[in-house]
Amino acid sequence: MKLINYIANIFIAIFRLLQGMYITMLNLIRKKVTEQYPENRGKKEQFEQMRGQLVMPHNENNQHKCTACLICMTNCPNGTIQITTKMEMNEETGKEKKVLDTYMYDLGCCTYCSLCTWTCPQDAIEWSQNFEHAMFTRSKLNIRLNKEGSSLAPKNK
Ligand code: SF4
Ligand code: SF4
Repeated sequence: MKLINYIANIFIAIFRLLQGMYITMLNLIRKKVTEQYPENRGKKEQFEQMRGQLVMPHNENNQHKCTACLICMTNCPNGTIQITTKMEMNEETGKEKKVLDTYMYDLGCCTYCSLCTWTCPQDAIEWSQNFEHAMFTRSKLNIRLNKEGSSLAPKNK
């Protein structure tokens, strides 16, 4: 039985070797595609699921969906997200409410694990397909995601 297995393994190994060589040969004769980057910058399409850079979408009224619950910051494994909050008077209820002040995202630390987007209960953050991250200074990788003067969008907006 052992001898049969031994011989069978030899044939399997030869088959795998030929399979690998076939793929190599196929790639040798296949038409080559050269990306003309950065000339093709505007036309270059990325995969839909690509995780380029974390962003916080704002609507036309400069409103976002972040309720400053801090869940994303708590779940981020390496402190990439730093959120500060402030108290603001809610005109509807007449009570003070905690709102987002600054949402800082350090692109230089991010591992693109997406734990932040998966756990955000408001879908307030998402991935953009921007892959051009080269900067001259590290501090420029620390990006504020909520725009200046932005506020929380009313529900269903
Ligand atoms: S982005 Fe989402 S999880 Fe993070 S603080 Fe805002 S609402 Fe909470
Ligand atoms: S993708 Fe991961 S590392 Fe990057 S900010 Fe989100 S939780 Fe943090």
